[in-house]
Amino acid sequence: MLFSKLLIPTLKENPAEAEAVSHRLLFRAGMVRKVAAGIYNYLPLGLRVLRKVENIVRQEMNRAGAQEVLLPAVQPAELWQESGRWQVYGKELLRFKDRHGRDGCFGPTHEEVITDLVRKEVHSYRQLPLNLYQIQTKFRDEIRPRFGLIRGREFIMKDAYSFHADEADAEVGYGQMYQAYQRIFTRCGLNFKVVEADTGPIGGSFSHEFMVLTDTGEDVLVSCTACDYAANLEKAECLPPAGNPAPAPKQRWELVHTPGTRTVEEVTAFFRATPQEIVKTLIYETEEGPVAVLLRGDHEVNEVKLKNLLRVTDLVLASAERVKELTGAEVGFSGPIGLRLPIYADYAVAGMAAMITGANQDQHHLVGVNLTRDVSVNQVADLRQVTAQDPCPRCGAAINLLRGIEVGHIFKLGLKYSQALKATFLDANGQERYLYMGCYGIGVSRIMAAAIEQGHDEDGIIWPMALAPFQVSLIPISLFDEPTRETVYRLHQKMEEAGLEVLLDDRDERPGVKFKDADLLGIPLRVVVGPKTLATGQVEVRHRRDRKTNLLPIDQIVEYLLETMARELSA
Ligand code: ATP
Ligand code: MG
Repeated sequence: MLFSKLLIPTLKENPAEAEAVSHRLLFRAGMVRKVAAGIYNYLPLGLRVLRKVENIVRQEMNRAGAQEVLLPAVQPAELWQESGRWQVYGKELLRFKDRHGRDGCFGPTHEEVITDLVRKEVHSYRQLPLNLYQIQTKFRDEIRPRFGLIRGREFIMKDAYSFHADEADAEVGYGQMYQAYQRIFTRCGLNFKVVEADTGPIGGSFSHEFMVLTDTGEDVLVSCTACDYAANLEKAECLPPAGNPAPAPKQRWELVHTPGTRTVEEVTAFFRATPQEIVKTLIYETEEGPVAVLLRGDHEVNEVKLKNLLRVTDLVLASAERVKELTGAEVGFSGPIGLRLPIYADYAVAGMAAMITGANQDQHHLVGVNLTRDVSVNQVADLRQVTAQDPCPRCGAAINLLRGIEVGHIFKLGLKYSQALKATFLDANGQERYLYMGCYGIGVSRIMAAAIEQGHDEDGIIWPMALAPFQVSLIPISLFDEPTRETVYRLHQKMEEAGLEVLLDDRDERPGVKFKDADLLGIPLRVVVGPKTLATGQVEVRHRRDRKTNLLPIDQIVEYLLETMARELSA
């Protein structure tokens, strides 16, 4: 294809508000343009990349036996009312009314619609298992759309839903998707890690996230240095410390006047103590009423673990007024002794012999409190976020905390939607039973950005061969030099005939401009044709990733490019 005929509006300047490298480069390379917050146009080159991702996803889903469908983006409220999500799905769900006043929404996900389809069309165990997927535009009114395509409001997702006669078959289907996802992300040329993810209070290990590893990722994941344990931060377990519970000190606790010490830092400074000797008491509101949570001063609460333990869906820190009402003291002086709330303590707190806590009395703390001796606790449990100092919960070796971008998520749904929407089938004995379900998502547009977060340098994008908008960038030094002109057009044709995707930069620009743009666009192979090398019957090839350059005889170039391409696509 000819550069001069394509809309490739490259830019020298970075867009002002772009925080992420991928956002900056997609913009500068003329691949996307912003329409509104979290909403983008895909320009010709951007769309070529998107299609490459889609094709890999499609091929591997088909290979795994899934069937492609296309469901509507606009969904009626009735289905969401049936599943119960109309009420509980927050403001991310874009709701609207049509001209008849009927409620509807723009689909952020399609469990309801697909379950409705399947309950109407599938009636017998003979039609199972069934896996249906689509590649489609989703809308989620994200509170903070950011990083360009990484967290958009409108984005492209591949979502698949599987239906099974029983749990065992659902697990087989889950395994097949796990394998397909491994192949998809490998073929996309991504460096990724599969991590265990939270499944809600039901538990089990049947949710995995596929994380592209990059320091710029929004997600934190835990990875064992010795065994293959890996989990996202929400899910990563902390073990109770050895020697729990700690024996109590001899003396009883005492009340101390601690004016102006609200935060862990202030309390630490006042007592000349370490944060490991302090316990913070957090007051949470839930739909089941308020609770108190005890955590060591240097630890952070993990709200997902807390929600799962309490089996609640709403969980927010209590307001300052509510804290005063519930504890009798200002925020910063809450403590477990004398508190008439259900108390949940993190494992680490039970491991402290004597701790400093708030006194539920303004400007006062208690010292020498022991959890087992002095506090009536509802439960001691794993309620905190893992730190880099924690051991692996499986093998005890050291762990690493890594950053990543979630590009895929697979989830065993069980009967949640089939029960709510009464999606049943008749089993071999003519018994009516609910369908077992699984759901499997991939952030197709997010992959584009994740690939750039992983592949770039100061000059621009470095696409993996499989995702590059073109595999070869063909650059003439001058189109006014007749032999160069003749060779470059001939090579262009030969390359296209050989099945290579080649972008011939036929613009009336200086070679330096063309080289800069080729680097910015991230095309993996660059072929330069100029009078000097032509004089010896050669052209120059340069690899974008390592900038390695060599000269090749003209009649060997196509073969060389094909071999390089094949090698990189199979790597
Ligand atoms: P996140 O935690 O990043 O918000 P999620 O858990 O809401 O993701 P799912 O509902 O599992 O995501 O959606 C499936 C996939 O869709 C995700 O793995 C991710 O790759 C992609 N995705 C989700 N939200 C967005 C978004 N706002 N922009 C782009 N891609 C997204
Ligand atoms: Mg989300």
